[in-house]
Amino acid sequence: MSITPTFSIIMSNIKQAVETYNDKWRTVSSDLTEQSEVRFDPRVVLFDMDGVLYNSMPNQEVAWQESMAQFGIAMTRSDVYATEGARGIDTIRRFVKQQQGRDISLKEAQQMYDVKTQVYHSMPDAPIFDGVLPIMQKIRESGMQVGIVTGSGQRQLFKRIFEDFGEFVDEEHIVTAYSVKRGKPYPDPYLMGLEKAGIRHPWEGIVVENAPLGVRAGVAAHIFTVAINSGPLDDSALLDEGANLLYPTMTDFCNNWEQLIDSI
Ligand code: MG
Repeated sequence: MSITPTFSIIMSNIKQAVETYNDKWRTVSSDLTEQSEVRFDPRVVLFDMDGVLYNSMPNQEVAWQESMAQFGIAMTRSDVYATEGARGIDTIRRFVKQQQGRDISLKEAQQMYDVKTQVYHSMPDAPIFDGVLPIMQKIRESGMQVGIVTGSGQRQLFKRIFEDFGEFVDEEHIVTAYSVKRGKPYPDPYLMGLEKAGIRHPWEGIVVENAPLGVRAGVAAHIFTVAINSGPLDDSALLDEGANLLYPTMTDFCNNWEQLIDSI
């Protein structure tokens, strides 16, 4: 049996999440002179791609397992979800080291990743999640920017981003595996996402993530992080990484957008 949360419960949860975030920031920045200015004031929303914009994780599962099997690397379904968000080449180097005891070059890892990309693109296009385009519309109407921050290095997918979301994002607002040296779970990709949007402070952004490593990256960047649990993980896998809010679907987040803005 499920109970539909009432408006007041949702509102108090969101308000509490914003207050908790602000309190944490005041602690983190207690030595800074700008302490008094620190307050959640979003100007950009940075979306992860796989599992957030596109329902692509089922295809990613197949692509990772089939491609790595060609190189004698075993990857379970939970491996795919546990490593999601990291740059593909980093995941490959780690698995080769663990399973074959070899240190491989970035070039070799990229060649293996290219095979994964080929398998991925042999499958039908993953659909856009419901709620994504409506929330981007609302974000823009709220006067904020939209950015995309992905650990993916699949160039064909970047083309698709412009086809699907070109109304809301341009090339200046996209961070990929090629934009940073250190991928998620390091904060670097999300910090670069802020920088590309011309945003100076972490409290002026929102991160939207579905993966534990991605949530960790958003939290490490000190950005207010919303988890969308679109996959098979327990909510705790995302909440334990420090997500400020969690929704089961993008549509739920979209429906709560006004309440979040009203809580600021
Ligand atoms: Mg993801």
